[in-house]
Amino acid sequence: MGIIADAPIRRKITGLMVLVSTLSIMILGGAIFFFEIRNQHRSLVDKVATLADIVIENSSEGMVLAQSYLVTNVLSSLTRERNLRAAFVFRDGKPFAKYLNPQKSTSIEGIPYFPCPLLDRATKTVKPEYYFSAQHLGFVSPYYVNGKLIGHIYLQYGLDDLQQSLIQLATVFVLIILFVVGLSIFVAARLQGVISSPIQRLVETMESVSSQQDFSLRAEGEHRDEIGSLIAGFNRMLGQLQSRDQELERHRHDLELLVEERTHELNRVNRDLQTSIHDLELAKNVAEQANRAKSQFLANMSHEIRTPMIGVLGMTELLFDTQLNEKQQHLARTVFKSGEALLEIINELLDFSKIEAGKLEISCEDFSLSGLVAEVLGLLAEAAQNKHLDLTSQLDPHLPTIVAGDSGRIRQILLNLVGNAVKFSEHGEVVVRLSPVWASGSHLIRFEVEDSGIGIPTESLDSIFDSFTQGDDSATRHYGGTGLGLAIVKQLVRLMGGDVTVTSRVGEGSCFRVDLPLAPVEQHAPRPQCHLDRIVGGRVLLITDDDDLSLKISNRLFEFGLRGESVNSGSRALQVLQSDAGQTIQLALIDADMSGLGGLRLVEKISEIGPLAELKLMMLAGQEYAALSTAESSVRIDRWLYKPLQFENFDLVLIELFADHLTDVEMNPAVPEDKTLLLVEDDRVTQDFVRGILAQTDYRLQIASNGKEALAFLQSHSPELIFMDCQMPVLDGFEATRHIRQAGYEMPIVALTARVFAADAQRCEDAGMDDFLRKPFRQQELLAVLEKWLQGGRS
Ligand code: ADP
Repeated sequence: MGIIADAPIRRKITGLMVLVSTLSIMILGGAIFFFEIRNQHRSLVDKVATLADIVIENSSEGMVLAQSYLVTNVLSSLTRERNLRAAFVFRDGKPFAKYLNPQKSTSIEGIPYFPCPLLDRATKTVKPEYYFSAQHLGFVSPYYVNGKLIGHIYLQYGLDDLQQSLIQLATVFVLIILFVVGLSIFVAARLQGVISSPIQRLVETMESVSSQQDFSLRAEGEHRDEIGSLIAGFNRMLGQLQSRDQELERHRHDLELLVEERTHELNRVNRDLQTSIHDLELAKNVAEQANRAKSQFLANMSHEIRTPMIGVLGMTELLFDTQLNEKQQHLARTVFKSGEALLEIINELLDFSKIEAGKLEISCEDFSLSGLVAEVLGLLAEAAQNKHLDLTSQLDPHLPTIVAGDSGRIRQILLNLVGNAVKFSEHGEVVVRLSPVWASGSHLIRFEVEDSGIGIPTESLDSIFDSFTQGDDSATRHYGGTGLGLAIVKQLVRLMGGDVTVTSRVGEGSCFRVDLPLAPVEQHAPRPQCHLDRIVGGRVLLITDDDDLSLKISNRLFEFGLRGESVNSGSRALQVLQSDAGQTIQLALIDADMSGLGGLRLVEKISEIGPLAELKLMMLAGQEYAALSTAESSVRIDRWLYKPLQFENFDLVLIELFADHLTDVEMNPAVPEDKTLLLVEDDRVTQDFVRGILAQTDYRLQIASNGKEALAFLQSHSPELIFMDCQMPVLDGFEATRHIRQAGYEMPIVALTARVFAADAQRCEDAGMDDFLRKPFRQQELLAVLEKWLQGGRS
């Protein structure tokens, strides 16, 4: 099939025509052949039947008389039938007479003298029958005489004439077929020109077009048949391709021009861009320079403003230690308070400028939330107490103990909010609430500061977070302030990724809510940084029959340096308290669930004892006492704490209970005798201030007014500790420290600096300094640093 499919059309057409004509002739010839044979067979059978009838008719007498020679004579008359090969007559089933054609005797088939199926059949038939073999026709007919069957006649007739005429016919057919094949080939050859030649030319044209890519070529063909349409279609397609090609060429040309133009334009824009980048680079450098100048200015301002504050605050502090009459005391206290207020404003302004300059950095360290709250409440306890405000805290039990965040800035936020709450409330309470908030996968801690103060008008709620905005900006305003506090709070909260909102009703109070993302830290909580150790000399009586609880609380009290004493019954507690009579025991921790004399009964009894009126009472109770603790009650209990006891809350309650003790007590570090300290400082006021502080101690202070003098001093002396100012003429504190460390000195060096950036602290550390005192520092802060480095050793 593949060979035929791949053959040229010319051959296909020729083959097709030959095949079709030959097949037609053969089918026709076959039909004629078939009918010719059938007709000849029929006429032969008729002829032989007639012969048989004639023989029967003429030989009936011989048959009746049983005279075979008569029958044989009749049969002899058949000699004229050239093709009759033999004739046999049977009488009563037995051969009776016969005729054999002498010319055909060799070709006689089925000799009747011998039993054979043919003859068997011939003698049994009752009506004429015949058959054809390849060479002859056999005819058997019953022999009736007067309607009575007396025998049979069998004639064998040769088919020679028939075969002859068929051979002639076949010969004619073969000749006709040959003629038709020849004619077909001739006609096909003539038709080539009409059918395959145009196709051939089309193919040649296609090959030329594809090899030369020349779409101007055209195929030739003038006929209107399908091939003509094909050629015309192909030519049309070539025409379209040619015009498309021309169009493409035109487009390509246009595009080249466009690209050239755009490249030109791009080069120009590029040049402009480079000029702009250059200008921007210059502008950026100028801006960076301005920014650096701004930062430098900020640093200098910080230094210049804070340093003189030492003169105001520090010297006033020293003044308190001298002999002053009442009026002088009052004046000095006023100076001190004004100085503190001024420092607060300066700090706010500096913070604000830092935020504006984008210089405020947020640090991250682990800290205790309850410790932080305790510290803030401790710092504002006195102010709240002066206004008879209840300053309390509520920490959610699910609050993480330690979180990671910028504790300093969070303290600043809380101080501001709680400070405002105290400032703007005249009665009632200020509550600080802390709770965890689970929001979209991040750990948020919610700080709420709620007061019962003057409230904020609805129209001012949005603007109070704007800088320099105050609720009451009239000239006669009652409350002081810069209007910067909340603006700084908002910026700090934003920098920490949190949110601050406020709700308020005029005359009823306000609630500030700060949500900060603070991740909990899984580690052992460090001891809260509160001032519990200042409740000096106080004894705490722990009254519980729960040994486990007793042990835990005693350990906690011990950690804070408090003397805890425990008794396991109410009656024993009464004995101890009565004998102390309010002299040394400041706090009684009472377990509400004691057997015998229960907690509440014990409190009643204590209330009856006059000298114990000042004794603070803390009740440790199960949650079932919660309703009782909030109800109005005649029983005096200062604080309730619920079991299971959370030590963070315990610490906090202690701070709240002893708020009034915190500020009065002075630190009194035990100092070693005759130790030399070196102060490297160019500012006279700071020199005098430090000298004044150390005059009360046994330290000897040497002063160098710059780094170079300090290095000279170290040649012959070995101070225990060096206070190092950072910004000094000749040789600054950073350089001086580097030299000191290079020379191998290992004494602690504490930086004194008014700089405020976190980077400055890092710079001090990089230079080799151990600690950091931010100017203006207080007397107690300097003494605490001394104690830390000279008593506690290097940490
Ligand atoms: P300052 O307190 O220095 O005036 P703030 O920015 O802290 O500045 O507060 C802005 C203003 O918001 C305050 O002047 C006051 O009118 C109002 N405000 C802030 N906190 C409270 C509060 N707890 N109760 C009532 N008003 C408040």
